[in-house]
Amino acid sequence: MDMPLPADSRVAAEAARRRSFAIIAHPDAGKTTLTEKLLLKGGAIQLAGQVRAKGNARRTRSDWMKIEQERGISVATSVMTFEKDGTVFNLLDTPGHEDFSEDTYRTLTAVDAAVMVLDAAKGIESQTRKLFEVCRMRDIPIITFVNKMDREGRDPFDLLDEIEKTLALEATPVAWPVGQGQDLRGVYDILHPSLRMVDSDEVIPLTGLDDPTIEARVPGDRAATLREQAELAAGACAEFDLGKFLEGSLTPVYFGSALRDFGVAHLLEGLARFAPPPRPRPADVRTVRPEEPKLSGFVFKIQANMDPQHRDRVAFLRICSGRLEKGMRLRQVRTGKLVPVNAPLFFFAKDRQVAEEAWPGDVVGIATHGGIRIGDTLTEGDLLNFQGVPSFAPEHLRRVRLDDPMLAKKLRKALDELADEGVVQLFRPLDGSQPIVGVVGLLQLDVLQSRLRAEYGVPASFEAAPWSTMRWMASEDREAIERFSAANRMDMAQDHDDEQVAFFTSDWRRKRAEEEFPMIRFLPVREQH
Ligand code: GDP
Repeated sequence: MDMPLPADSRVAAEAARRRSFAIIAHPDAGKTTLTEKLLLKGGAIQLAGQVRAKGNARRTRSDWMKIEQERGISVATSVMTFEKDGTVFNLLDTPGHEDFSEDTYRTLTAVDAAVMVLDAAKGIESQTRKLFEVCRMRDIPIITFVNKMDREGRDPFDLLDEIEKTLALEATPVAWPVGQGQDLRGVYDILHPSLRMVDSDEVIPLTGLDDPTIEARVPGDRAATLREQAELAAGACAEFDLGKFLEGSLTPVYFGSALRDFGVAHLLEGLARFAPPPRPRPADVRTVRPEEPKLSGFVFKIQANMDPQHRDRVAFLRICSGRLEKGMRLRQVRTGKLVPVNAPLFFFAKDRQVAEEAWPGDVVGIATHGGIRIGDTLTEGDLLNFQGVPSFAPEHLRRVRLDDPMLAKKLRKALDELADEGVVQLFRPLDGSQPIVGVVGLLQLDVLQSRLRAEYGVPASFEAAPWSTMRWMASEDREAIERFSAANRMDMAQDHDDEQVAFFTSDWRRKRAEEEFPMIRFLPVREQH
């Protein structure tokens, strides 16, 4: 039931100028380079994947940060806020390595749009497609940036065709490249006829494709080629349709080179113009509109402090409605507890800064000493839970083996806290045996092991669990679930939110259970709360 709540015009205005987005890309397509260039445009620069604390020099890096460095992957997800021409951009960074895809999925629940970066020579790659599927599940509008146009690559028509065919997404070029590789001169802006040349910020206005200015700027037969191709593209591709873009069925395509800082300004203008501001968001009891005066938001990420001596964490809260003010106390709906927000962190420019206020679409960091979990809703108003932060059935299950039994209690606490953070999923077998951890990617286990040692002083290792897969269970028929549990007592466990789960030793056994208990749905994905 939707209850109309009074809108606050200041909240509405601040929400309207915000664009919160993520970049999705296959590793090496140029996400990091593009991120840096985007931040430079907004006059804010923060190294991607690093939340830098004040007093950087004093910080000791814990072991898991070493893993990150050694393997050259970014475990951390961070937020970068920058402002350009009155628009506030919140760029939510996602880890590139697929072993941390859960982190990425959760981050995508907190954005309103995504930029899909393709390498012009490679087109759609495996990781691009996976991330795209997550965006599609949530109908996230996608802007495409074809990167590395300064290198020999594939034909733009071929790339557009690939987007349409492999992603079933209409692709509309909003720019058309003038040359490619060493020959790249610039792009022609199809939506707003103009030329943008490489190595220049100038935008040369045109009356259209037959404007003779093109000859003056693009010498030789390149002008004729451009005309021919741009006309062909206009005929062959769907016209840009804002409605289709917003519902996630059409992508505007930009061409450029992040390395040479070409096409990046154009992309940013596109984000400001086309990407949506925060939209109404469904919660369990009603839909929440951003302009509602009372603050609400949800936690999609928790990051441990890099300093193992201080076990404080930062919970990343995506604001969905209202105004966040320093010093507020927010209700944590899951527990009913009040959470003081004395120093909300904003990730502006180089450092974290304490924010005085924040608005829908923004992400603020809230210091916590535990107790806040991924998926938690925090609110100033009525009690509701935002939907959609997903958990995926782990690909690997392991039993935790403790070398020193004296540390059992410490291990339990450590696992609880790390599960709150979403480092791994935690399951407690109903027969009381050792906890089981579940991960989507095996590198998560390395992170868990080194953090247990570095931050909690608990040396632990993992051994094979008898099961290979798990499912959450749902049924209107409570009794059926009870019957199933009683018959499979040794394979039952509770997840971190006390939901019952079933373990299976093989896919074959899982399928058999599904056949024998058709009234139970065995779910591979669970949306928290
Ligand atoms: P990520 O893995 O997606 O973050 O990719 P990076 O931004 O780290 O880029 C991967 C490699 O491609 C690096 O060597 C970059 O210098 C290079 N690169 C990124 N953008 C461009 C570009 O526009 N043109 C060319 N020629 N190289 C690029």
